[in-house]
Amino acid sequence: MIFLKIAKTKTELFNFLNPQRASNVKIGIVPTMGALHEGHLSLVNRSKTICDFTVVSIFVNPTQFNNHNDLLKYPKPIEQDIKMLEEAGCDLLFNPEVEEIYSPEEVWNYKVGTLDSLLEGEFRPGHYQGVTQIVNKLFELIKPQYAFFGQKDYQQFLVIKKMIQDLNLEIEIEACPIIREANGLAMSSRNIRLNAEERKMALVIHQSLLFLKENANQYPLNQLLNKAKEFYADHKLLKLEYLKICNIQTLQDMREKNKEVCIALIACFVGETRLIDNMILL
Ligand code: AMP
Repeated sequence: MIFLKIAKTKTELFNFLNPQRASNVKIGIVPTMGALHEGHLSLVNRSKTICDFTVVSIFVNPTQFNNHNDLLKYPKPIEQDIKMLEEAGCDLLFNPEVEEIYSPEEVWNYKVGTLDSLLEGEFRPGHYQGVTQIVNKLFELIKPQYAFFGQKDYQQFLVIKKMIQDLNLEIEIEACPIIREANGLAMSSRNIRLNAEERKMALVIHQSLLFLKENANQYPLNQLLNKAKEFYADHKLLKLEYLKICNIQTLQDMREKNKEVCIALIACFVGETRLIDNMILL
């Protein structure tokens, strides 16, 4: 087992990172909000195969929450997270407090562009302002050559990829596959909040995505989506926010299935818990 270094402050972070930079090692960053699961660990493993030094950040970033209750309820099992990172062979955990990251009157004016008004951007106004703000800060602090994100948050991956281009950052970004439980439920820190009945209901999300994938070439897309939405019709615990088939680069709605690869994306409340998932349709 590798000894996991933990930095709570920027000074501690620099003290750990400076010798690494001096010896020219490849640094990989895996930004997270903690309550770690196999999905997060798959990003750590990917970083370890490509990079010499893997940094995981755990920071529940207040600026990306548009729902204060969601922020307050966000799980923080830090001792368990540390154990998982030690076992995964992560080199350094950066786990700062909010005051270490933000000064009281800080502003961030990056223009996310059209991705900001679609899907997650539409339902969580300001979310990607907050996400780009924290990820850019982590990039500035850690100066990684590689950054690993999950396809689970596909729109976030596209937003960060664009920010890297817009700000001319010298960082390779990679999207890693969605890790699911054996029953198909995409792993998420928010799954902890589901009770037994909700867990069962949440399986509809994966089932409806599979239905779209398996039938993508059978029906016109409008009809196909309507059929998939029927999966949600009779379940009181499920409240669909969106279920869309989009262009995989721009996330604009697709009206017809041509030869392009597209992606089905979904956000759905299961009881009080909002879950997202997606699947690439060939
Ligand atoms: P979060 O802690 O939810 O902010 O997620 C941190 C990173 O882990 C993001 O890049 C997510 O896309 C990724 N991630 C979350 N869940 C999964 C999963 N089930 N499979 C793969 N990556 C994931």
